[in-house]
Formats: sequence, structure tokens, C-alpha cells
Amino acid sequence: MDTKQPLDSDDEEQTYYQRSIQPKADQWKKITSDVFRALGLKMKILMTVIFGGLLIGSVILLSFPHSFSDQLLDATSNDQLLDATSNDELLAATINGSSESKTPHDKLLGGLLTADFDERSCVSRYYQSSLYRKPSPYKPSQYLISKLRSYEKLHKRCGPGTDAYKEATKNLGHDDENYANKHVGECKYIVWVAVYGLGNRILTIASVFLYALLTDRVVLVDQSKDMSDLFCEPFPGTSWLLPNDFPLTKHFDGYGRGYSRCYGTMLNNHAISANSTPRHLYLDILHDSRDEDKMFFCQKDQTMIDKVPWLVFKTNVYFVPSLWFNPTLRPELMKLFPQKEAVFHHLARYLFHPTNQVWGMITRYHKAHLARADETLGIQIRVFADRAGYFQHVMDQILSCTQREKLLPQVVTQEESKVNVSTNQKLKAVLVTSLYPEYADRLKNMFWERPSSTGEIIEVYQPSGERVQQTDKKIHDQKALAEMYLLSLTDNIVTSARSTFGYVAHSLGGLKPWLLYQPKDLTAPDPPCIRSTSIDPCHLTPPSHGCDADWGTYSGKVVPFVRDCEDREHDGIKLFDEL
Ligand code: GDP
Repeated sequence: MDTKQPLDSDDEEQTYYQRSIQPKADQWKKITSDVFRALGLKMKILMTVIFGGLLIGSVILLSFPHSFSDQLLDATSNDQLLDATSNDELLAATINGSSESKTPHDKLLGGLLTADFDERSCVSRYYQSSLYRKPSPYKPSQYLISKLRSYEKLHKRCGPGTDAYKEATKNLGHDDENYANKHVGECKYIVWVAVYGLGNRILTIASVFLYALLTDRVVLVDQSKDMSDLFCEPFPGTSWLLPNDFPLTKHFDGYGRGYSRCYGTMLNNHAISANSTPRHLYLDILHDSRDEDKMFFCQKDQTMIDKVPWLVFKTNVYFVPSLWFNPTLRPELMKLFPQKEAVFHHLARYLFHPTNQVWGMITRYHKAHLARADETLGIQIRVFADRAGYFQHVMDQILSCTQREKLLPQVVTQEESKVNVSTNQKLKAVLVTSLYPEYADRLKNMFWERPSSTGEIIEVYQPSGERVQQTDKKIHDQKALAEMYLLSLTDNIVTSARSTFGYVAHSLGGLKPWLLYQPKDLTAPDPPCIRSTSIDPCHLTPPSHGCDADWGTYSGKVVPFVRDCEDREHDGIKLFDEL
């Protein structure tokens, strides 16, 4: 349903104004001729000029239904202005729907971002995203800011093309057994290899980046996938993309639990020795990794891993909450993130700036459908089932959650709506994202066919309905990123259980989501959803054991602020500030 007024209603409005001008014009004519008769010829000329001017002025004013300030706002909504980053106040006026907006634009997000980039190369980085977002209530700590600035220097010193990088990659892959006596340079690295969907990828890049910050390593991302079509470079004067001629790249496909340099496998084979440190290790931190692989999170294991110059990660889980189990890393994490639940929120705003192409998709959609709403609601629908698609119980669950939580009104009959005549003309835009268009279609029809109980006008939009996941197809991934980002701009958000797509959206936006429980046996769960008390994503399938002294302790009980995820009891942990 598109409840926007059809074009011809504008024509009607215009005709109405023209009609209403006609009698006024006749009156003016009569008045002027009376006056001319009463006064002499000299006065006639003077009065013609005065009244003529007034008449033309009235016609112009009455012919345009919008006030001049409205027209100014309309003017600012065209693409040219949105692309002109210099015209900030006008942009702010468009986004906020008011020319009164005086919010200062914190383009560096409280110091999180460096000012060292050319703005035009990536328009989402500075002014523009701060114009589309409300200021975040979560402020980065000074310690995080200084750590990021140091990291940027380190990356510049060790990144691709530097002498340090050349030294570190020399003969890598041959002769790796025991490098103890050989010089491999001053820098240590993490290579992130892309696996699984885009939500997983975004969460895991943030996880390895935090691990790199904590251990003074440099992160390089495997660019065999479409990373550079999605994100701008995050570090100034260097690149985070792993060069194509990196010596180990050709072996990545074969990295798995059977690989002799897989950390868990080495533990199993008792192949870890104090006198033999390999030049590279493969870390397997996936949803179905073995306990041995998850020993990565333990302090004792970190002592050995820390010496290895190259760590290659394949991971699909947001493993940040488990880093807090390590007593060496914990004090540093506390200093970096005094607000624990804001880890991903800050890291995501620091790292992930959509490319100009994706940013165009985001802003065009936002302007067309969300910018003028009084309130926005995001609903992310992910169906994990063998034969995924439209399910009535999922639709029932979405309605039950949104109506119980007063995120959407009920619909009523025409008669009931007449009885409860409401003056509430609030416009609420609902952004639905799903692989399947049927959910949004039903919602749209529901609010088109019948009035809402509150009188609110509900508009429902869904940007794409791709039906099947097509990870690594450029335009598909760009749409997925644009949708996660658009969801993050909404005022309230409902997301699906255990979906990393939803986790990215709410955490990037600093939103505490309503999490839809996972349906069982094709029935809508009761209650249908729960409001999370934390904005951080969930670490799905974390280690099931503690480390060392805590060995055998359930992961959700090791530290008080790392607890079960609301949508994944006993198989997911997350960071909470509320105890
Ligand atoms: P998760 O599987 O829900 O944890 O999320 P991921 O993002 O890791 O993987 C799902 C992938 O399926 C996405 O990256 C998209 O490629 C696709 N997908 C799933 N839901 C949507 C959606 O609502 N919109 C779009 N455009 N793609 C989706």
C-alpha cells in the first residue's frame, strides 16, 4: 500500500485554490473601479499600480498550497543538495523534517573517527551519516579513542606495501615450523577470511578487530569477496585489504579442522610446544567448533598464540563477550568500554562506512519512505527453516509482538473508527526487511483496508524481497547492507532470534530490540517476543566451559555482566550493563 496522496489530488488542491481566488479577483475589480470613479485621473494611475501589485501578490500566494518554508524543505530534498555535504543545515532540515533543527553535527562521533580522510571519497563517513542518525547516547571513552589513534599508526607502519609487511610475508608458507631464530619483523597480523552471510561477516570483523586492538596486531581482510564494494577503507593512509599475492591465500579453502596448523587440532595432537612456534596458525571459531578450538579464549592458550606472527581466522560468531573471560584482557576491556553493552556499537561506527554506491541506496530509500514519518519502526524477519518462506505462525507472532508492545496499533472496523474519531494523524513508517515479500504485503494490506485504532497512518515498506540468500553476489550483498543500515536508523526495532543480520542492525543503531523468540513446531511462541536490556549482539554457541580456575563453569556464569542472550538461552551469551 502506498498511502501517499496520488498526483491528481495535488491537482484537485490546485483547482480548489484557483476557484477560491476567482471571487476575490471580482471583488478587487469592483473596489478599484469604485475608487477610480471617486478620485481624479491622477489618483487613478497611482492606485492602479498599488492595487495591481496587491492583486498579483495575492494570486501568487493563494495559488501555492505550500508555505515558503515548506518549499524550502522541498528544495532541500533533492539529490543534488543531499550530495552537497557543505550544505549541512539544509540537509539537517530535510532529515529532521524541520528547518528549525539546530543540532550540531558531531561528524567525528565524539572523537571515534579520525579527521584524516578525504570526505568525498566516502560520503557516509563524516557529515552524512551523522545527519541521518540521532546522536548516540553511548559515548566512546577517551581510552578507546586514543587506542584507535595508536592502532591507525600501527596499521600504517605494518600495512600492505610497507617494509614491515614485506619482511613478515617473506617465505611465509615455507619454512614455517620454528621461526624462533629468524627475524620476521616487528609486526604481528590477523587475517580475516570471509565465511557465511554478511551479518556474520560484519560481527566477526568487529570481533577480530577488537582482539587485534587488545593484542597489538594488524587486521587484514580477505578481499576475494566483495568487501571493497560494500565498505570504505577504515584506516587512513593505508589499506585493510589483504594483498592478492599474500602467500597463504591460495590455501585458505583448505583451512579447516583437518589442517595441521589449526589450533584446536594442534592441541589434540599435543603439537604445541614451548620451543616451537609456528609462523602462522589457523583459528576455527565457528558455531560448531570443538571445545579445543574454543580454548583460544583461555589465558594460558593466549600466551602461546600471542607469539605467532600470523593468525588466520575463519569465524562466524560475534566472539567479543568471550574475550572478557580472560583475566589479562578484562581490565583493558573495562577501560576501553566502561559501557560494556556498547562494544559493537562503537566498533561498527568506527569500522563500517558504506561505499558511495551503497550510501546512495540508503539515502534514496530513506528520503523516499522514512524521512517524513513522525516515527519509524523496523521489523527484521528471518525465517530459519528447511523450507523457509511465508508462514502464518510467523505472521501471527509479528502481529502479536508489535501490538502487545504497542509498536503498532490494532486495526478496527470503519464503524468503530467513526465512533472513536481520533485527531491523531501521526504518520508511522514501518520498514520491513525479509527475504520474502509476503510479510510486508500482508501488513500493508491490513493497514490499507482498515483504519488503525489510534488513528495513526501506518505506511509499510520493504526495500527488497530476494527470496534466496545470494552471498557474494555484489548487488545482493549491497542490498543486504543497505537494509541493515536502514533498519539501524529506525526509532524502534523488532528483530528475529539468532539472526546476525538483526544483531548488526540494532546494535549499530544503539537500539534495544524487541527480540522475536524462535518459533517451535510451527507455532507462534507465547510470549512472542522480549525487549532486550542490552544493545550488544549475542555470541551464539560460545565456549561451554570456563578456563583454568573456572573450568567446568557454564559460560553465562563466569562474570556477572556476561549472561545468557534473551533469544538464545543456554547457547548464547552477551554483554549487559544492567545487572
Ligand atoms: P543471519 O543468517 O540471519 O545470521 O544473517 P546473515 O546476514 O549472516 O546471512 C543472511 C543473508 O541472507 C544476508 O546476508 C543476505 O544475503 C540474505 N538476507 C537475509 N535476510 C535478508 C533481508 O531481509 N534482506 C536482504 N536484502 N537480504 C537478506
